[in-house]
Amino acid sequence: MLDSGNNKCGRETQTNEFLLATKRDPAQRTIVWVNDIPIGGEKVVVIAGPCSVESGEQVFSTALAVRKSGAVILRGGAYKPRTSPYDFQGLGLDGLKLLREAGDLAGLPVVTEVMSEEDLEHVCEYADMIQIGARNMQNFALLKKVARIKKPVLLKRGLSATIKEWILAAEYLLQGGNKNVVLCERGIRTFDNSLRNTLDLAGVALVKELSHLPVIVDPSHATGKRSLIAATAKAAIAVGADGIIVEVHPEPEKALSDSAQQLNFTEFDKMMKDLQKPLRSLVALS
Ligand code: PEP
Ligand code: MN
Repeated sequence: MLDSGNNKCGRETQTNEFLLATKRDPAQRTIVWVNDIPIGGEKVVVIAGPCSVESGEQVFSTALAVRKSGAVILRGGAYKPRTSPYDFQGLGLDGLKLLREAGDLAGLPVVTEVMSEEDLEHVCEYADMIQIGARNMQNFALLKKVARIKKPVLLKRGLSATIKEWILAAEYLLQGGNKNVVLCERGIRTFDNSLRNTLDLAGVALVKELSHLPVIVDPSHATGKRSLIAATAKAAIAVGADGIIVEVHPEPEKALSDSAQQLNFTEFDKMMKDLQKPLRSLVALS
């Protein structure tokens, strides 16, 4: 349990209780199945794909490439939460259809973001896992709707959300009837703007200690910087994350969104190989 909060009357609030997300004993863990892929078990799951679905050619080639390198779930945004209304907003329903086709072509389940309640039906029709993005982590109306469906959910941590707020957002899904929740740390806003966000790896370890839910890490949005993705992915696994979600594009420099943080196929393949290598050994007295 995290620090207890006090309301304005000085009485202790009960909202700090994670009734359903709490780990009741240290060995308790939930495995969330995305079709036949287990998230939260012994092995680490790699989810990969473009930030946005841009065209058939782009998403089909990416699906085949990431599968070949070892990814087991395909990601791709069709409804994009962009800071500026003048930026590419995603292909919408056409993007969902292309993502589904790409997943089927490569034999991979697909995860994509739902931005609003009105798109939920379409997203459920085409996706195997529903992503709730950082900007919607506390969209309680959306959480309540998604709680009523049975598809697995990838719940990203809000840009400025505390661990407590993040777990309570998961609690909305669990309490509303959807037990298939995977948490995703994707970096938070701090005083330091050297990188896009600050990756809270200690927070990942803390959530793994507090909750039985699987936790994965998104090094792409956490750093915003291609050259740091392999290192932070490795660190995420070292700290106990159940998986990583990484953005991959055939030509990152031409990507319509998040160009600086997407890996090309060669870079992704190299990262996958690096992830198989053991950590460095300790200096020992001779
Ligand atoms: C994404 O995964 O495409 C995305 C927009 O991520 P986030 O919600 O973490 O910013
Ligand atoms: Mn992105």
